[in-house]
Amino acid sequence: MRWDENLKMTDINHHLTDALLMAYSAGSLPEGFGLVVASHISMCDECRARMESFDALGGTILENTEDTALAPESFGATLERIAKGAAAAPAPPAPKERPTIFPGPLVDYVGGDLDQVKWRSYGIGLKQALLPVARGSTVRLLYIPAGMAVPDHGHRGTELTLVLQGAFHDESDHFGPGDIEVADQDVFHTPTADQGQPCICLAATDAPLRFKDLLPRIAQPFLRI
Ligand code: ZN
Ligand code: ZN
Repeated sequence: MRWDENLKMTDINHHLTDALLMAYSAGSLPEGFGLVVASHISMCDECRARMESFDALGGTILENTEDTALAPESFGATLERIAKGAAAAPAPPAPKERPTIFPGPLVDYVGGDLDQVKWRSYGIGLKQALLPVARGSTVRLLYIPAGMAVPDHGHRGTELTLVLQGAFHDESDHFGPGDIEVADQDVFHTPTADQGQPCICLAATDAPLRFKDLLPRIAQPFLRI
C-alpha cells in the first residue's frame, strides 16, 4: 500500500507554498525541509506538477547552487526517486509486505516503515523520533495519541508539518493525511490530534519552538524541539 496508489490528490487540502517549491527546486532548502517537501510531492500530483514547472524555469539556478545547504547527492537522489515514483507503474505489493504509511523519500531516511522507527517518549503520551539531517534544520516524526494536544507553542523560525496518518486540528484549521501546515513567527498554536486514531506527522523546524508553559520549556533542550 503506497501513497500514490491510495491517496487521491483531491483528498489533500493544504499544499506547499510557491516559495517552498521554488527553494526546493533551487536546492536551497535545509535538508529537513527538503525531506518534508519531497515527501509531500511524492503524495501530491498538484504540487509535483507545480514543482516541475519551477524545475523547468530554474535549471540553470540548480547548476549554480550545488554546494548550498542541501548536499548535492541527497538532493539529486531525492529528485531521482521522485522521478522514478512518478514514472513507474505501481508495483504489486509483496505478499508479506506490511502496509506502509511512509512516502518513498521518508522510507529511505528511516530505513524502513513505521515499525522501524525508534521512538523516544516525551513522557506524556507524545513520542518523537529525530531523523539524521545536516545542520540548519531538525526533522522529526511525531506520534500524538488520539485526542491529545502538543503543548501550545509559538515559533522562532518556520515549522513545516506533514500529516502521515490520522489528523490534527489547531486554532487555524484541520489537517488530514497528506496535508501540510506552514507555521511561522506569527503562529501560536496548540495542535491536537483528532479522536479515533493516533496522528503521525513529519515535522521540520529551523529554530527552537517557543513554549508557553514551564514544563515543556525545561524538557526542550533534551528533546531538541
Ligand atoms: Zn500539494
Ligand atoms: Zn507549531
